[in-house]
Amino acid sequence: MTAAVPGVRDTPFETSDFLALDETYSTHNYHPLPVVLATASGSRMTDVDGHSYLDFLAGYSALNFGHRHPDLVAAATEQLGRLTLTSRAFHHDQFGPFCRELAELTGTEMVLPMNSGAEAVESALKVARKWAYRVKGIAEDRAEIIVAGSNFHGRTTTLVSFSTDPEARADYGPYTPGFVVTEYGDARSVEEAITPRTAAVLVEPIQGEAGVVVPPRDYLPRLRRLCDDNDVLLICDEIQSGLARTGELLATDHEGVRADLYTLGKALGGGILPVSAVVGSRSVLGVLRPGEHGSTFGGNPLACAVGRAVIGLLSDGSFQQRSRELGQQLHDRLDGLVGRTVTAVRGRGLWAGVDLPPEGPTGRQVCERLLEHGVLCKQTQDNTLRIAPPLVISEEELHEGLDAVVRVLDGN
Ligand SMILES: *Cc1c(COP(=O)(O)O)cnc(C)c1O
Repeated sequence: MTAAVPGVRDTPFETSDFLALDETYSTHNYHPLPVVLATASGSRMTDVDGHSYLDFLAGYSALNFGHRHPDLVAAATEQLGRLTLTSRAFHHDQFGPFCRELAELTGTEMVLPMNSGAEAVESALKVARKWAYRVKGIAEDRAEIIVAGSNFHGRTTTLVSFSTDPEARADYGPYTPGFVVTEYGDARSVEEAITPRTAAVLVEPIQGEAGVVVPPRDYLPRLRRLCDDNDVLLICDEIQSGLARTGELLATDHEGVRADLYTLGKALGGGILPVSAVVGSRSVLGVLRPGEHGSTFGGNPLACAVGRAVIGLLSDGSFQQRSRELGQQLHDRLDGLVGRTVTAVRGRGLWAGVDLPPEGPTGRQVCERLLEHGVLCKQTQDNTLRIAPPLVISEEELHEGLDAVVRVLDGN
């Protein structure tokens, strides 16, 4: 089968042609599965040959509401017909409403809109440092930020400076100083790392890229207490764990913990465009003054219109409930595989990290087999499957995909 390439007039292309183009003209910083997708709707995607697949990755949780959710497409389309970009040099009529609605949804007071997740984390780190100098009174250039091992916060030079993943970090030095790495899940290691120079603790409430690692139940509450006792900010990176993925709006809601700053991204853009934000208290985000931080595209009208529609979908709690209910079924089935074809399953809501036995096929090989069975999934680390379907997936589709996972793990 062939498909026409938009913009390349009447040129027939096959899957292998697309793969060859990528191989030749794109940098090799990814190793995608050999499928070329052309259309998608809900939790299904179709390739250029017309084969249909179930999406078990959901764009690393950027597609929590599925592909082309009608409310989100409608909001984007409507906004495309009105106003797309103004820069922050001027006000526009989507900006204030977006900020208010996001603050109200997340129970926070202020919003700093950005674009990518990495930018949101960078912005949170800048705000935390400024707060440390202007409010806490740490001496100039002495502020430290405590992070966790196996973290993933994005790909900028500063963020990889405190990554513990050699692949993400090697050859990108010199690295940004001012970060202290502690052991994820171990509050005592944070307690020992806190000094009068500590500005903030930055953690993922559940570590996504590390393999959907859920910390011990008392970890986040203990971090909250340590931060309170030592005048330190708690920054929770909810870019992957937030916005209903775990069955609550924020993963910290499971423990009833409130962060001083949250970073949001991925699903905030509804799978349509990059939208991220730092949200938090006025006493922290209020340190920024005109000219001290910014972004050409951050908070643009199209992003705000889509973001508002995303907030609309999250506001009645139905996606959170769906994630809890389908997540229960997901975990019930996966837990039944432990000790048989998998060694461990972790996660919360419609989100699971599934460890494969070291002697069996690699994560990559399992994903290649799943592709043949019509399921798109992606390993994280070498031997962990990350299962994160769109939250709009039907119960039947979820089990159809899990049937394929079971078959592939059984070696069929
Ligand atoms: C994906 C992710 C980021 C980075 O987001 P980008 O949009 O890729 O820059 C940061 N933190 C967490 C927890 C993530 O999962």
